[in-house]
Parts: sequence; structure tokens; C-alpha cells
Amino acid sequence: MSAENSQSIAFSDLRTAAYCPRKLYYARRGEREVPPEVLERREMAFRYPDLVDAPDAVLADEPLAVSPRRFRENLDRLRSRDPDLWAAITDPEAREVLLEGRECRGIAHKVLADPPRPSLVSAGSPPEDGVWEPRTVHAVAAAKALAWERERPVETAVVEYPAHGVVRTVDLTTRRKAAYRRTVRAVRSMDGPPPRLRDDAKCDPCEYADECGVRTRTLRSLLGG
Ligand code: SF4
Repeated sequence: MSAENSQSIAFSDLRTAAYCPRKLYYARRGEREVPPEVLERREMAFRYPDLVDAPDAVLADEPLAVSPRRFRENLDRLRSRDPDLWAAITDPEAREVLLEGRECRGIAHKVLADPPRPSLVSAGSPPEDGVWEPRTVHAVAAAKALAWERERPVETAVVEYPAHGVVRTVDLTTRRKAAYRRTVRAVRSMDGPPPRLRDDAKCDPCEYADECGVRTRTLRSLLGG
């Protein structure tokens, strides 16, 4: 590994910093373990062919975030509308691959073939369209790391939300690459707690809100919502 590579940023750190650099500051001080529910949801991404036609009784035992019917409809739509992508995600070239790029390193849950591209599996929920910004930055990092390893351009990444049966493609647009670069710079320049965001949409669900001191006594927090 080169000296430059030894300074590489973990994909997960990059994604956290894309959400909020201060959150990364807190996360780096604590223990980080992947909760079992997250692992269970991720594991579903390797069983789509068994799950897409499974009856309600079978899906009832799966950690779905939507109804069994919606889950089947989402996967079935993907299978019929984009058979190439369906084939790629159900028969990946490799799984759980450590990618070491020039700037960032981390696990791609799958590497898809023809063309080569990383696929990241999220245990969370997708936005209405596309992919949340932190996951976009993560996807760009994984695509760039794969491109670095293969010495060829990688212009797309895939993000899977198995608990919803939703799969989204992320093109590496100029805007997304710029967001990636900004986040890399933010992580590299971090030498103390970065400023608070004071962004309710991000701070309300943040697990460090109390520690961070941004928690305001909104009606929602008073109600414990
Ligand atoms: S509470 Fe807000 S400012 Fe503080 S770490 Fe979380 S997201 Fe960042």
C-alpha cells in the first residue's frame, strides 16, 4: 500500500461526513458496531430471486420496511423493466469486496459485471427519487476506488434498499463528483469539532444531538416523537 493510500478515508467516514462533518467527529470517538437488524436487511440483497415471488407468509418473517405486496411489486418491476440490472445484482461478480482507491477505501457489498460497478446495500429507506446525498458521496467513492483498482473508468454505481425491494443507479455526474471532493476535503481538514449544522432535518434524527447540544425543545421532542 502506498503512503498516500495509508491516509485513505473509510467509505463509512466519508458518508457520515457528507451528512455532517461534526457527526463524524463524534462517531470517531465511539465504538462502532453494525446492529444485527442492519445485517439482516443487507443479507436480503443476496436472496432477491427467492424473495420476489415469495408468498406473504414467507415474507412476514423478513425484515421488510414495506408490505409484502409492495416489496414484491418493487422487485418485480425492476426484474421486468431492467433485466440487465436485475441479472447483475442477482448474480454479482463478487460480494463483500474491499476496494482500495487513491483517496478512500471500504467494502462494496457487490461488484457487478459488464460494466464493472460497485453496488452498496443500504439498510435504510430510499428517498422519493434517487439516493440520499451521503449515500451518493459513498457511491462515488466506491466507484472511484473500483476505477482506481481496475485502471479503467467507472461511471455508475448502484445502491440497493433491500428492505423496500428498491434499487437505484447513481451516475457519476459533475455535481456528484464535486460533492465527493468537498467531502474528502472536509474530512482531511478536520482537526477538531466542526461547526454545528443547526439543520432540523438532519439534527433531529442524529444520535449525537444531545451530546452536540443542538437539541431544542420542540413540540415533537416534548412529545417524545
Ligand atoms: S446534531 Fe446536527 S450538527 Fe450535531 S452532529 Fe448531529 S447532524 Fe451534526
